Amino acid sequence: MHTDQPHLTPELRRRLEHEIPTLTLEIRALYQKLDQKLNLRGALVPITFGFETETLGSYTPGVGGREEEFHFSLLFAGYMDAVKISKEDRTDLFLHEYAHYMQYNMEIPKEHDWKPGKHGSAWKYCCSLIGAAPSEYYRFNKGREKHNYEKALRNPWSDPNAALRDIRRREREYQNSRNSTVRFSVGDTVTHPDFGTGTVTDVTRLESSVRLTIAFADRTRKIDQKWLLRSAYKKPE
Ligand SMILES: [Zn+2]
Repeated sequence: MHTDQPHLTPELRRRLEHEIPTLTLEIRALYQKLDQKLNLRGALVPITFGFETETLGSYTPGVGGREEEFHFSLLFAGYMDAVKISKEDRTDLFLHEYAHYMQYNMEIPKEHDWKPGKHGSAWKYCCSLIGAAPSEYYRFNKGREKHNYEKALRNPWSDPNAALRDIRRREREYQNSRNSTVRFSVGDTVTHPDFGTGTVTDVTRLESSVRLTIAFADRTRKIDQKWLLRSAYKKPE
């Protein structure tokens, strides 16, 4: 009987790290098959691992100065029963992130481009091509069956409901990083229906937004970039 909490002891950490080479080969083999089918190069994208308890995996496209990579938490992706997810669920985790890769790296037919968003229609279309579950939530079927409620409370990251919360957090992180991608630079001219034409005099990147200081004819205003993008502002070509 195991009554102790499976927290990340140095021993568990060491054993999970030991799985990295085999795991990398397994994911690459899966991605190679998909690459051949789709004429893509996902198997060449670096794969990194961590010990995140709140995110299962991610795909970061190589835009905005960031390194392109797949990243997985060993607690979920590892072979060891750290979180008790089924083999099918693990594979679905890898497919889920590959579908995000596809989203950025292949032509999406117009008829599948009607619902925007990270898990919108384009992503679901990608899922349909590779057999990934078209759900932004990972499924923890087996983990749920075996769950001991007391134990789940002690280990929030093994609780299916915690996974749902964590995906929401991940969505928020995605929104934040999207909102904090700088889209204007000092000297840009912008126009506004009420304030007229102005010049960007300062760009401040905040954690989840970009604050622009804009000198309009009457006075200087500080405006969140996201409102500029949504309103009638235009960055001149
Ligand atoms: Zn996703």
